[in-house]
Amino acid sequence: MASARKKQEIIRRPFGPLTVEVPVIGQGTWMMGNARDRKEEVEALRAGIRLGMTHIDTAELYGSEEMIAEAIRDVPRSELFIVSKVLPQNASHAGTIRACEASLRRLGTEYLDVYLLHWRGRHPLAETLGALEALRQQGKIRALGVSNFDVGDLEEARGLLGGTPIACNQVLYHLTERFVDAELVDYCARHRIAVVGYSPFGHGRFPRPDSAGGRVLAAVAARHSVTPRHVALAFLVREPPRFTIPKAATAAHARENAAALTLHLDERDLTEIDAAFPVPRPTGALPVI
Ligand code: NAP
Repeated sequence: MASARKKQEIIRRPFGPLTVEVPVIGQGTWMMGNARDRKEEVEALRAGIRLGMTHIDTAELYGSEEMIAEAIRDVPRSELFIVSKVLPQNASHAGTIRACEASLRRLGTEYLDVYLLHWRGRHPLAETLGALEALRQQGKIRALGVSNFDVGDLEEARGLLGGTPIACNQVLYHLTERFVDAELVDYCARHRIAVVGYSPFGHGRFPRPDSAGGRVLAAVAARHSVTPRHVALAFLVREPPRFTIPKAATAAHARENAAALTLHLDERDLTEIDAAFPVPRPTGALPVI
């Protein structure tokens, strides 16, 4: 009885160095926020939040912040974990502060849980990190983070930050793109940096049911009476410090994704998925979308 109850508990874990525990599956919002689909998107986000996907990922790039503001209007702020990002071209000291303040206004919130540099650009990293640290000291962000950083970038950032921790590194991570499993995840685990995998469904290119990998997902899914997408999400967050942020523009998709918040895969499942979607050799540049 106790173990049956335990299986239904939402899987949460500490987010990098933060004391707060965050559900392992959140909600991406890239390509959301256009006027035509707004009502449906707001409903999707609300359905996801109700089911425990309270980590909401956005960026000044996405144009989704005002739609998110509408979706979260009636949710206590303390129950949400909101992340946004500054574009590299805006990431001078003054530009980062301005971009963050604009995101806060659009989101209708007083603070971000984490604010990220979206990817490295022409502004010196030290300048951007200095601005993020200033925002943290002003209470406008609870923590700072980065995105699309490889191990070398993280080493440089950690050196520049001194003692200030990097809460997370948001990177491309799905079943057919497991580059980060080669070494980046281990590096992040050693330094208590959360790895937030983006595009967990391959940005709309999920393994087809008639592919070899698709058949493996279906077999694992059948054993647990769940869907292949549940299995994929559960695999992508199988161990700390991994999190994932699928994007769903419909409530039906959000509900399906949220159901994976309670799914535990066993050793046999993990071995079969690992073999069907192998980790590449750790060479070349970090893949991005
Ligand atoms: P994704 O989450 O891999 O895939 C989204 C696609 O999957 C959409 O077409 C969506 O359809 C579909 N989908 C979602 N749930 C489904 C379900 N249960 N059944 C069937 N289809 C489903 O793609 P993504 O948007 O690229 O990545 C997720 C998030 O990561 C982004 O939204 C963004 O927040 C973040 N991201 C960050 C970066 C970065 O550089 N930091 C880059 C890319 C993405 P519907 O929309 O119709 O529901």
